[in-house]
Amino acid sequence: MAAIPEHPQPSTRGTPATAATTRRDAGRNGGEGQWAAGHSTPLNANEQFKKEDDGLNVRTRIETVYAHQGFGSIDGADLRGRMRWWGLYTQRKPGIDGGRTAVLAPEELDDEFFMLRVRIDGGRLTTDQLRVIGDISQEFARGTADITDRQNIQYHWIRIEDVPEIWRRLEAVGLSTTEACGDTPRVILGSPVAGVAEDEILDGTWAIEEIQRRIIGNKDFSNLPRKFKAAVSGSPLLDVAHEINDVSFVGVRHPEHGPGFDLWVGGGLSTNPKLGVRLGAWVPLAEVPEVFEGVISIFRDHGYRRLRNRARLKFLVADWGAARFRQVLEEEYLGRPLLDGPAPEQPSGVWRDHVGVHRQRDGRFYVGFAPRVGRVDGATLTKIAELAAGHGSGRLRTTAEQKMIVLDVPEDRVASLVAGLEALDLRVTPSPFRRGTMACTGIEFCKLAIVETKARGSALIDELERRLPDFDEPVTVHINGCPNACARIQVADIGLKGQLVVDDQGRQVEGYQVHLGGALGLEPGFGRKVRGLKVTADRLPDYVERVLRRFRAEREPGERFAQ
Ligand code: SF4
Repeated sequence: MAAIPEHPQPSTRGTPATAATTRRDAGRNGGEGQWAAGHSTPLNANEQFKKEDDGLNVRTRIETVYAHQGFGSIDGADLRGRMRWWGLYTQRKPGIDGGRTAVLAPEELDDEFFMLRVRIDGGRLTTDQLRVIGDISQEFARGTADITDRQNIQYHWIRIEDVPEIWRRLEAVGLSTTEACGDTPRVILGSPVAGVAEDEILDGTWAIEEIQRRIIGNKDFSNLPRKFKAAVSGSPLLDVAHEINDVSFVGVRHPEHGPGFDLWVGGGLSTNPKLGVRLGAWVPLAEVPEVFEGVISIFRDHGYRRLRNRARLKFLVADWGAARFRQVLEEEYLGRPLLDGPAPEQPSGVWRDHVGVHRQRDGRFYVGFAPRVGRVDGATLTKIAELAAGHGSGRLRTTAEQKMIVLDVPEDRVASLVAGLEALDLRVTPSPFRRGTMACTGIEFCKLAIVETKARGSALIDELERRLPDFDEPVTVHINGCPNACARIQVADIGLKGQLVVDDQGRQVEGYQVHLGGALGLEPGFGRKVRGLKVTADRLPDYVERVLRRFRAEREPGERFAQ
């Protein structure tokens, strides 16, 4: 085991002035574990292993010990804790049904293979990078490579012995798995059409790169209470799910100062979902990294560490409220007031995924396409890279809706690219079902899962396309394999939360609790859990078909499903 380092200390900037209030809070609550309130004693196993050794330090042990001595040599706290700081999770042992998920010990669920997440900040990829991702998939990951709804790519079946070589190849082309999981600053979502879209308010790419440079892999920010999700987008389509990130910078035009970002904090889903709140502050591009650092520092210093299920920033924001959060940010972390600013405007489109053929502001085109529920494979990614290289300038993007985009396509090359993508079953003009269905990893690989998701989502798309060939309304169907929210079920038109349900013959079978009417956008809200409405997996296509037919028959003119 590595030496125990000093406990990382909270920021020295500004803690004294707020310490009195947080101490009062801590006393009232019996102590939430906030560093700024003087709580440095670990209050749970996660805080303990983080105090014993920074998660980032596990890389040295992987490279010098575990990759040589194999899975059995991995220390338990590294295996189920610190390896996440480098994007590694053990995957679920095959053949364990969902009924045993909650009753087995973690070590009984652990396979000797890993999921490995590659962070793709802003969704920005080159064809060279995508070729490397595809090659790694085929050589080390049995061909797996899923596009996530946070613009990342995830492998499965990774052996610990291969991890150093995978890192070497990824890093040689400027990619990494640093802090892709764990209690860290995760991938920074960005508009996938930043810098090219005709309707862009401003391009946030510089801010994302600067935050990466300052914050990612920086041990001042590698021991957070829990994960910290961020988004920066200057697209009027609001294309990064800003409402459900810990911090979001959303493009707006200030009446006096011009384009900048509206600051949101405290969003997040999971089992206790909360929408982010506006602080009413306008942040120019040049100040985004500084404000980001202020918000993440508040989370590190004041965030709750006692209970894991209360440790996300959303709980602190809910307790403090927007006004107090902004005051602490300004007075204690930035040392200056922020300018007031406007809220984002209503987006013009319903879909936020950039699928289809769209003109760029330089006259070329970008082409967005939809795989099935984010599932691709290494061979397909390699073919996508070849198509992009042959039709564009070598730039691609992943989206926050499990889709991809090829940028910079001359007009006379668009039709050829579209034909090439469609031949790979990557739809440029998808049905609403292909376009709007997302699924999390599910029982195939996830240790928390209760039910299957990806294959079922793909089959559901086929069934709905067959049964409702002329349905042309935007509709989102999100499928989770457990009560967590990796596929954002609470903000889908039809959200399906995986659980065991009882069928007609009284047997426990895979199924879903139904949530209806969730939405993101300027009128966001969580879907209503339809009381008692649980559907077995076998009946899922029948149920969704019935809901959609009823909606189509009863809707008012112009009414969207979520309304
Ligand atoms: Fe796993 Fe549950 Fe997340 Fe799906 S929602 S990936 S089953 S934790």
